[in-house]
Amino acid sequence: MAMIPTNGAPDDNSSADDAPDTCIICGEDPDGAWPGATGPVGVCYRCALEDLPGLIAEAVTRARQFRELSPLEVNFQEAEDEIRLNFWKQAAAAMAGRFREATDPQSAEDLD
Ligand SMILES: [Zn+2]
Repeated sequence: MAMIPTNGAPDDNSSADDAPDTCIICGEDPDGAWPGATGPVGVCYRCALEDLPGLIAEAVTRARQFRELSPLEVNFQEAEDEIRLNFWKQAAAAMAGRFREATDPQSAEDLD
């Protein structure tokens, strides 16, 4: 079962019981989960690498702040820099969470 991130999530009110059963894109078992406004969102590894970047690109090109710009005027470099920064921040938070689970038996029991 995928776990809702316990560290670094924008809204950390979710619990492992809230973990989704399916990837929101392909419907397979999710490998990761994230709190959403209407409930947790799950995604599998393949969709995270192959499909989420497309979703991000779509959101960037249609973002309210860029609506008055042509698609060629959207600053993709700025978006990419922010994505990279946030990816590594969340990767560090995820690794810290996995380390805490591995070294703190009580933490692992809490997630069962
Ligand atoms: Zn998937």
